[in-house]
Amino acid sequence: MHGKLDWDHRYTLMKHHTGTHVVNGALRRLFGEHIWQAGSQLGVTEARFDFAHYKPIADDEIKKIESIANEFVRQAVPIQKKVMERNDAEREHGFRLYQGGVPPGNLIRVLNLPGIDVEACGGTHLNNTKEIEKIRILKTERIQDGVNRITFAAGKMVDVYQKEENELYHRVTMLLAPVYPITLHENIAEQLHRAEKIFSVSSDQLEKTIQRFLKETAKKDKTPVPSLVDACNHLFNEWKNAQKQKKVVSSDAIERLQHDAFQIPGTAIKIVTGQCDADAITIAAAIISEPGYVAHIYDGKKLVSAASDNVEIDLRPLASEIGKLLGGSGGGKPKLTQCGGPNRDKINESLKTAKQLTIQQLKKHE
Ligand SMILES: [Zn+2]
Repeated sequence: MHGKLDWDHRYTLMKHHTGTHVVNGALRRLFGEHIWQAGSQLGVTEARFDFAHYKPIADDEIKKIESIANEFVRQAVPIQKKVMERNDAEREHGFRLYQGGVPPGNLIRVLNLPGIDVEACGGTHLNNTKEIEKIRILKTERIQDGVNRITFAAGKMVDVYQKEENELYHRVTMLLAPVYPITLHENIAEQLHRAEKIFSVSSDQLEKTIQRFLKETAKKDKTPVPSLVDACNHLFNEWKNAQKQKKVVSSDAIERLQHDAFQIPGTAIKIVTGQCDADAITIAAAIISEPGYVAHIYDGKKLVSAASDNVEIDLRPLASEIGKLLGGSGGGKPKLTQCGGPNRDKINESLKTAKQLTIQQLKKHE
């Protein structure tokens, strides 16, 4: 069993290594003879191929490279490996041979995939391009000025990658389903890729990002959309509007509340009490971002109390007291608490009491 695993492992590495020659050939076929290998790294799950090219790879070019590479695989090109006199090899193939570096000695191992790539290469290769089975480009990136990197998978690893991709697609569409049910499930890879671009994140961050955006927009009604890309565009715009709304409401409300602040005599501490339509946590957090504030804000659902970093206070006993007054309960962290209850008619009294308790507690500290 152990021997078999070792062989699978080595065979996958060979697919990835031979794949780099095929990808190199595909790049040259698409972009021209100036394509030059700048480095490569092999792994069991994927391979990276770095090459010199004057501009980044466009999305439609990725598809073309992948399709040329897979065409080379389908052509089942026999791979020639031979040891040659350096001079003979150079005469026959030119200096392109040395893309992977110049090997020492008079005899060099020449790897030739006729019509695709020829290089002096000491690596371990398959005997025929068809053994690669298939190639899938996972990612392209600009790693430095003039150098691009292609990350790809070959053989069974393509299936593994596709399975993960399908699972990710399933998870994000399920997340979106309550607000943006998707009616058409096509071109999953492309949909995911474009969704990542909408949020400017990589695939491993997509799920969390969508979760966060859904939370921050708090959209409740259902809007059916054709595709994942549509859902993400809608969500992104909705989120942008929500952010704008929040800002407008907040700055007005905050100014009004700070204007009405009560300064505790003989101290630099100001108490802000008030009601607002926007989320009380957001408002309170904005007020106490400046030093010297204690804020008690009610937003129709909860009363939030918060204190600036430089104010020595534990608001938790206060929150539990006010919570009782409102017919409910309260608690939280020393400088950020929430309380609430059904007695909405007691809100003015509660805010007044919160102010008194704050003054009392701060006086105790003196
Ligand atoms: Zn090689």
